[in-house]
Amino acid sequence: MQNRSCIFCKIIQGEAPSSVVFEDDKVIAFMDIQPVNPGHVLVVPKVHTEFMGELNDDGTAHLFVVAKKINEALRKSSMRCDGVNYLLADGEVAGQEVAHVHVHVIPRFANDGFGFTFPKTYLTVPERMTLEETAQNIRKALDISGV
Ligand code: AMP
Ligand code: ZN
Repeated sequence: MQNRSCIFCKIIQGEAPSSVVFEDDKVIAFMDIQPVNPGHVLVVPKVHTEFMGELNDDGTAHLFVVAKKINEALRKSSMRCDGVNYLLADGEVAGQEVAHVHVHVIPRFANDGFGFTFPKTYLTVPERMTLEETAQNIRKALDISGV
């Protein structure tokens, strides 16, 4: 269930310091040690899984319900929070640094300096046919049975 070399597993086990916002039997939510903005929370399943695909559907649903509740709490709190980004890096190439699934809940406000960069190709809107072919490609691979 846990991975001895994983910092988030250590936090879950109480073997590394953390500032906890919420915890139950399935997830823990704590403050990111290097927040993008004050109030930046990580929501982490208690089971050690590196990738989203390894997390079962109940665990996934619970993870996002808790992330939503944190969003609502941030907006009600005295933290500066005029909007929220959920961010989940699934894989190193996607920016994942800690190999244990986690959702970032990041409070946002105007001119906070955070943002995304886009590839040059983003400026060219693809033909509908291309979008259709891509949708078909994904549809063929989609296994949604049991949801
Ligand atoms: P990611 O790049 O999506 O894997 O994000 C990993 C996040 O974990 C970063 O935002 C780090 O600041 C955060 N982080 C790493 N170590 C700790 C820690 N010990 N306690 C809290 N947050 C951490
Ligand atoms: Zn872990």
